[in-house]
Amino acid sequence: MTIDLHTHTRYSDGTDDIDSWIAGVVAAGLTAVAITDHDTTAGWAAAAAARPEHVTLVRGAELSTHVVVGERRCSIHLLAYLFDPAEPTLAAEMRRLRVDRAERGMRMVQRMVDDGVPISAQQVLNIAQGAPIGRPHIGRALLAVGLVDSVNEAFGTYLSGRGPYYVAKGDTPLEAAISLVRGAGGVPVLAHARARGAASVTDEAFIARYAADGLAGIEVDHPDHSAADRAALRALAVDHHLIATGSSDYHGRNKSLTLGQERTTDEALARIVAASSGVIGLLGPGTSSNGGSHDDVH
Ligand code: AMP
Ligand code: ZN
Repeated sequence: MTIDLHTHTRYSDGTDDIDSWIAGVVAAGLTAVAITDHDTTAGWAAAAAARPEHVTLVRGAELSTHVVVGERRCSIHLLAYLFDPAEPTLAAEMRRLRVDRAERGMRMVQRMVDDGVPISAQQVLNIAQGAPIGRPHIGRALLAVGLVDSVNEAFGTYLSGRGPYYVAKGDTPLEAAISLVRGAGGVPVLAHARARGAASVTDEAFIARYAADGLAGIEVDHPDHSAADRAALRALAVDHHLIATGSSDYHGRNKSLTLGQERTTDEALARIVAASSGVIGLLGPGTSSNGGSHDDVH
């Protein structure tokens, strides 16, 4: 199979609606794809409905988590696959994260408005269309009024974590998030462990600790990882019996990444399926690799 396990749609901070996302999946020649929107499963039903027969859908999400290292609070993203979205504790925490994103996004916009930046809360809400608010939505507002030439440029200026408008999110502690995902029968995989802020904390001791806490895998091949990062993470995955994945982290037009530009092996996907409870199985031709159900109601 040709597998990409980390992609975003309009249901979070990607720009593709489900139809264009599926069209992109087909055009990229993918035969299995995961939908991993931030802190939500809202896109699952539409993705399941739009899935062409030959494409296997892996239902997932990317959770906002953090670790505290010394005085530093560091943002860590956790991919979660094949979890039961109706499990109440995880569902409640994901709801809390979405509310927190909405409040935090509005606080960032208010800081900009107070400083004379000509965007508005309503404009950002219109762009997000009900999705959990992320900085890329604010970036698109800044782009629309011509203050930046790209969302990427906005991240280096108005949206910067070191800039005057930044407000931190109330992310879940990583350890708790891993346990919530496991508790919902899902499979937690550390996203882009060596990207940006995460790189300085994700050393071997970190990987060993969270592997012992239930982490199932590491995203090894990711556009933000150098060849050296990939080699180091691949070795850590072997040493700590973690599943090594590879994915594009596609966000539509918000980032210049293409679907399938990084990929996951059949074996890794089979290990993810085997590690899940089976409450939520793969949808599509890949389902034979385990006993995962064809449950497509969520
Ligand atoms: P937030 O979750 O609201 O703090 O925003 C961070 C999200 O924005 C990340 O999950 C990425 O998906 C996205 N992002 C980070 N850096 C960039 C960038 N330079 N250009 C576009 N999107 C980015
Ligand atoms: Zn992502």
